[in-house]
Amino acid sequence: MSPEPADSPAVDSPATDSPSADSLYEALKVFEGRTTSAASVGKDPVNEPMIRHWCEAMGDAHPAYRGPDAVAPPTMLQAWTMGGLSGHPTDGAGRSSAYEELSALLDAAGCTSIVATDCEQEYLRPLRPGDTITFDAVIESVSPRKTTKLGTGHFITTRMDIRAAGELAGTHRFRVLKYAPAPAPARQQSEPKPRRPRPVVNRDNAGFWAGVAEHRLLVQRCADCATLRFPWLPGCNACGSRAWDTVEASGRGTVYSYVVMHHPPFPAFDPPYAVALVELAEGVRMIGNVIGVPYDKVRIGMPVRMEFAKVDEDLELPMWRAGVEED
Ligand code: ZN
Repeated sequence: MSPEPADSPAVDSPATDSPSADSLYEALKVFEGRTTSAASVGKDPVNEPMIRHWCEAMGDAHPAYRGPDAVAPPTMLQAWTMGGLSGHPTDGAGRSSAYEELSALLDAAGCTSIVATDCEQEYLRPLRPGDTITFDAVIESVSPRKTTKLGTGHFITTRMDIRAAGELAGTHRFRVLKYAPAPAPARQQSEPKPRRPRPVVNRDNAGFWAGVAEHRLLVQRCADCATLRFPWLPGCNACGSRAWDTVEASGRGTVYSYVVMHHPPFPAFDPPYAVALVELAEGVRMIGNVIGVPYDKVRIGMPVRMEFAKVDEDLELPMWRAGVEED
């Protein structure tokens, strides 16, 4: 998402000139500088187990995060401030009342939807296991009324300053857009249904789509270590070699995981529909629509068989048919 920073000179909506929009913005501006959290203390000191879990989840094996001189990954900054499922002891005791009041004003003005737009962090001092952190949060800015594709509303930026041993370790800015949703444009009866987006074919994956055109499901294989890979990439993750050939997959697989898409509506698709991460018999995984069974009958472990499905006059896509007999 490409958010519109609250302080950018974006075009204000025409409604800015109306007296009600002006008075709302004036009422919102009053909240700039209001504290939403003061001298809060991190639930846990910076610690090795949380660092290890983070690194495993991120797949980050950098040696700086291990051993006796370990530092915490800088991007963990916010993690140390989080209250977890049970929250912070001060939650609900006026800690975030300024934010709640601001939200209530926007709700009353019809800005009932919210979307997180972006986050910025600055790192000033490394955090190390054993550091106890404290943090303060403030509503830094509220933007003038702005109109985006989602709707019209205001960007709210909250700044959190995180300290260790009284020293500023980093700053975390979090921005949301609180807005009145724009009405969905009604499609005229006469307009044809929009076509499904075309695959983006580039130098890295052109061979895959050439295979699809010939009804062959091609998986890349490293020419040096024979490791299979999907999606197509210029190099081997196992050995770094850039030499490769392909193998034609059998098209047999099982549902490794899946989602059922209900939202957001997209004109070329008819939700709800199921999209699966399929583990091929050859071992690599591939994403695609599941067909042949109702969307709510898709299950992890279900055997599926690839078929080339004609989507429209010039697009065929590999899809995964469930309800097939296993060989
Ligand atoms: Zn290799």
